[in-house]
Amino acid sequence: MKFSDLTIYFEELEATSSRIELTNILSDLLKKLSPEEIDKVAYLLQGRVVPFYEPIEIGMADKMVDQAIASACNVSRENVQKLSAKLGDMGLVVEQLSGGKKGSKLTISDVHEGLYKIANTSGEGSVGKKINVLAGLLKELDAKSAKHLVKITLSKLRLGIGDPTVLDALSVAKEGDKSARPVLEEAYNKTSDLGFVAKKYWSAASAQDALKAVKKVELQVGKPVRPALAERLPDAESVVKRMGEEFAVEPKYDGFRNQVHLDRRQKADSGKQVQIFSRNLENMTHMFPDLVEAVKKEVNAKSTIFEGEAIAFNPVTEEFLPFQETTKRRRKYSVEEFAAKLPLKLFAFDLLYLNGNDITNLSYKERRKKLSQIISSEGQIMVAKEEILHSSQELTKMFEEQIASGLEGVMIKKLDAPYKAGNRGFHWVKFKRMAAGELSDTIDCVLLGIYTGTGKRTGFGVGGLLVGVYNQEKDEFVTVSRIGTGLTDDEFRKVNQIAQKIKVDKKPARVSSLINPSYWVEPKEVLEIFADEITRSPVHTAGKIGDEPGYALRFPRLVSFRGADKRAEDATTVSELINMYKRQRKVKV
Ligand code: AMP
Repeated sequence: MKFSDLTIYFEELEATSSRIELTNILSDLLKKLSPEEIDKVAYLLQGRVVPFYEPIEIGMADKMVDQAIASACNVSRENVQKLSAKLGDMGLVVEQLSGGKKGSKLTISDVHEGLYKIANTSGEGSVGKKINVLAGLLKELDAKSAKHLVKITLSKLRLGIGDPTVLDALSVAKEGDKSARPVLEEAYNKTSDLGFVAKKYWSAASAQDALKAVKKVELQVGKPVRPALAERLPDAESVVKRMGEEFAVEPKYDGFRNQVHLDRRQKADSGKQVQIFSRNLENMTHMFPDLVEAVKKEVNAKSTIFEGEAIAFNPVTEEFLPFQETTKRRRKYSVEEFAAKLPLKLFAFDLLYLNGNDITNLSYKERRKKLSQIISSEGQIMVAKEEILHSSQELTKMFEEQIASGLEGVMIKKLDAPYKAGNRGFHWVKFKRMAAGELSDTIDCVLLGIYTGTGKRTGFGVGGLLVGVYNQEKDEFVTVSRIGTGLTDDEFRKVNQIAQKIKVDKKPARVSSLINPSYWVEPKEVLEIFADEITRSPVHTAGKIGDEPGYALRFPRLVSFRGADKRAEDATTVSELINMYKRQRKVKV
C-alpha cells in the first residue's frame, strides 16, 4: 500500500471519536494490508517503528525537522520557523508548504524503512544524516502524507487508538466480528508485540490456520510479558473462602516490579543477555547495572523470565527503605552513583519461562518450586519469603507481622493457578491494611485534564487536575475527581511538566466526561490518590449509567506519581471502584 493511502485513513481516524467507528475504519484499512505491511502499520498507528517496549525512538527535535522541511520544500529555514510560530504545529507547516504537490509511489514499507534508519542512526554526524533521510522522504510525499510523517517524527501523532481497538479491528478484518479478540489478546499479553501478533495472524493461508497460529504463540525471552495483576478482598475470611484449604502467603514488598529476562546465548555486551522491564513494560535495563550483574552471577539458568519486586535498603542497618526512596533508582542519569547510594534487593516471586520452555501453564506451586531451584534465598536476588497457610487466623497473624515490620501487607496466591498474563484475577489477592469505616486503600487514577490556575497557582501552570479511572468493558477512561488541593508546590510543578508533554487540543476519543478542564491530556500518566471516601456524584462519569449518578472521590490527595510503574489501562477499574464503595458502606452500616 502507498503511504499516501495510509494517511487517508489516518485523517479519518483523527476525525473520529466513536470507538465503533474507529474499529470499522481500522479494520477496513487492515484488510488491505499484506503480511509484510501489517506489523509496520501496527507500530505506525502508535507513532512508532518497533514495538513500544524496544528502546528505539524516532525522537527528532523541532530544530532538526525544520531543516528537513526547508530542504524538502525549497524554502529558507527562517521561513519554516516563522510559519511554525504562526501555526504552532510543524505538521501544519509542512502541509502548507507542500500544498498542491502530487504524491509519489512511496510505500508504507519505504517510509517505515526511512523512519527505522532515522531511529537507528547515532553518533557523529547523525543529526545531518537524520535530516537528510527525512528531507528525502518529505520531498516525495503529498501535503497530507508529509503532515503525518512529520507528526510521527516529532512523536506527535495522536490517533487516539488503544491496543484493544487494534485487536478488535484485526478480528473484525479477518472474521467479520470480534470473535477472535480473546485469542489475539492472549497472544498479545504473552508478547506485548502487536505487530508480531498481527503478522502471525496475517501470514497463514486460511482463517482457521491463522487463528491456530495465534493460539500457539508462546512467551519469548526479550519480549516482555504483560503482568498478572492482583484482586482485592475485604478480610481474611473472604480470602480463605476464595482460596480453599491451602494457599501461599508472601510479604507485599513496597518497591517496584521488575520482569527479568535472561538469555545466556546472547553476548554479554549486546545488552540482550539480561533485560529488565518495568511493570509498564518499559525497558529499564540501563538503570540497574547492579541487578544485571547480579542476574548473571546468581541466577542458575540458561534462559529464563522471572518477576520480582525491587526494594532499596540501607546497607548499614539493613532496613528496607520506603517507596519514595526506592523509586529514586528509576533514573536516566547518575545511575552508578545512586546504585551505590541506594542498593537494591530483588525479591523474586514468580517464574514464567525456564530453559526454552514457557511454563505459565504450570501451577503456582510448581513454578515456585522451580524458582527456588534457580534462585537462592540469599544474595542480591532472593526468592520472596513464602508460607503455606490454611486458615484465616494464620493469615491474620502473618499479615500483622508484616505490617509490624513496616511492609505494606501480604499477597495471597492460589497454589494450583496458572500464570495469567495481563489479567487481574483471584489467583493473586492483595491484602493491605484496612481501617474500619474509611477508605484506606489508594486509588490509581489517570490524569485526564488540567485546570490552569488562578493567583499563586498560575505560576505553576496548574491549579487543578481532572482525573479518572478505567472502564475495562468499554476501553475508556471516565472521570472520578477534580483535585485542587493536597499537592505541594513541587508536585504542582511536576504535574505541569508532565501535562505539557501529553497535552492535546481536543478531548481524546477514549475519554468520557461531562465536564471540561482548561485543556485535555492523553490518558497516560497514573497518579496514586488517597481519598477519605467514595461518594455518588452526578458530575462524574465513573460508573454512571443513564440518569443515575456516578462515583467520585471525597477529599482526594496525591500520594505518588506512578511513573513507569503503571500504564493507563492498569489504573483502578470502575468495577474495583464500585467494589471499594460497597465495602466501605458495608463496614459503616
Ligand atoms: P498493587 O500495585 O497495589 O496492585 O499490588 C500488586 C503489586 O504488588 C505487584 O504488581 C508487585 O509490584 C507488588 N508485589 C510486592 N510483593 C509482591 C509479591 N510477593 N508477589 C506479587 N507481587 C508483589
